[in-house]
Amino acid sequence: MGFGSGSLMWFRKGIRIHDNPALEYASGGSSSSSSLYPLFIIDPHYMKPDPNAFSPGSSLAGLNRINFLLQSLGDLDVNLKKLGSRLLILKGDPHEVLIRCLKEWNIGKLCFEYDTDPYYQALDIKIKDYALKAGIEVFSPVSHTLFNPTDIIQKNGGKPPLSYQSFVKLAGEPPSPLSTKYSLLPPVGHLGSCDISEVPTVKDLGYEDANLEEFSPFVGGESEALKRLEECMKDKKWVANFEKPKGNPSAFLKPATTILSPYLKFGCLSSRYFYQCIQDVYKSSPKHTSPPVSLLGQLLWREFFYTAAFGTPNFDRMKGNRICKQIPWKDDEKLLEAWRGAKTGFPWIDAIMVQLHQWGWMHHLARHSVACFLTRGDLFVHWEKGRDVFERLLIDSDWAINNGNWMWLSCSSFFYQYNRIYSPTTFGKKYDPNGDFIRHFLPVLRDMPKAYIYEPWTAPPSIQTKANCIIGKDYPMPVVSHDSASKECKRKMGETYALNKTLNGLVGEDDLKNLR
Ligand code: FAD
Repeated sequence: MGFGSGSLMWFRKGIRIHDNPALEYASGGSSSSSSLYPLFIIDPHYMKPDPNAFSPGSSLAGLNRINFLLQSLGDLDVNLKKLGSRLLILKGDPHEVLIRCLKEWNIGKLCFEYDTDPYYQALDIKIKDYALKAGIEVFSPVSHTLFNPTDIIQKNGGKPPLSYQSFVKLAGEPPSPLSTKYSLLPPVGHLGSCDISEVPTVKDLGYEDANLEEFSPFVGGESEALKRLEECMKDKKWVANFEKPKGNPSAFLKPATTILSPYLKFGCLSSRYFYQCIQDVYKSSPKHTSPPVSLLGQLLWREFFYTAAFGTPNFDRMKGNRICKQIPWKDDEKLLEAWRGAKTGFPWIDAIMVQLHQWGWMHHLARHSVACFLTRGDLFVHWEKGRDVFERLLIDSDWAINNGNWMWLSCSSFFYQYNRIYSPTTFGKKYDPNGDFIRHFLPVLRDMPKAYIYEPWTAPPSIQTKANCIIGKDYPMPVVSHDSASKECKRKMGETYALNKTLNGLVGEDDLKNLR
């Protein structure tokens, strides 16, 4: 314990009370604290209100995600108040703000969840360094993930496992979640001159042109996360039989998966608690699916990407990334803009992109479709460009998982069967022959007959007129011919793979079988 008597609980992710080892330690731990300061710092690094800000760097948050974050903070504040505490919000550079608070509040114990993202790794070195010199005790447990990626990498001889199967073999069972129930937290101490604010609105943060109508249907916060989890777990048969990739990517009235990713991203839901709930269901349903396709298996995908990302320098770029194939992607701003703006002329692709803009969430196979289309399937645009768009628009946008999946889908790493391309016209049709998903997200095509909904440019002019949708005027012509574009992509991928042969040797045979 340092010289101060107060504890500071610094929330970053882990925006929750349940299974929160840092909070438990801050509020009691080895010696009970006289005061507890629960703090969240709004970091301008992530705030980019300009809706056209898609620059590289993977740190930009769009409106839906900021709104979700603010809802989550509001919920945390309410829950802390029930325990006699409150959330203290400050804005600014986290390093500067935190050090000011540590001094002003006479803090002896600083607690925050360990974070593997490079941004926090760099920040935490500076914070820990300051705390050490100032005699402040630091407690920074791993609780965002099931496992500690460092342990897995050590078990694997210092390198991250690069196939799911080898990851699962090493992982074993994760620690159980904490069962701490609080009746009261230590009171918040004297606040001094720190300029504490209430939870701001999106407008306060500069997101002024927000079209509130288009906000995502998902409400942020721990309370909502636990409710949603409970709802999912009630249907034991569904949990036990969960099998991905069998779900329907076009289901939007009742999506085929849990939609817990935004809650896991911000740590409104503990992954260990989620894991335990699934195990409880399995205990009462001995016949259940297994990883990689089961629901438990989905949580292990998350861990797999976290571990790979943590152990791979330059994981978020092609250059200097030893596990990423060096592919001569096209730099075509026009095609990228068509994809990003849901104007490719392929309704299945465009409807998914509209769902991304409006909801900030899409089904996994829908993400597969648009990521494949942008990269190795049709447009041959760099995966980093697509990653940036997802990074800004997804509410569940997650550094490790997003980069990992973009490398997967572009056949840059983990998965190498570049001949297997998602058709932008027939893939969606298998699930949704009537095109209801398209009609919902692209109302301009609402009256297009079923026979043409996936390829409206093939509809005769009289049908287009009757459907109030003239292709080329009301809805774009396709930006490429899928047949020739995909052939050309395969040719280029073949050439590149031949040149990249040395890289193939870096990963095991089982990677090739590693299909989801
Ligand atoms: P469920 O199927 O209910 O799965 C439960 C949880 O398991 C998810 O919430 C998620 O945490 C985890 N999970 C499921 N699938 C994966 C996967 N393939 N990889 C890692 N974890 C997984 N997921 C993100 O959380 N953040 C991202 O930024 C992200 N970017 C993606 C980009 C691309 C190109 C692709 C193809 C996938 C991406 N995913 C991302 C993975 C996956 O699509 C989502 O996690 C999933 O669709 C979320 O919906 P859910 O919570 O209903 O999933």
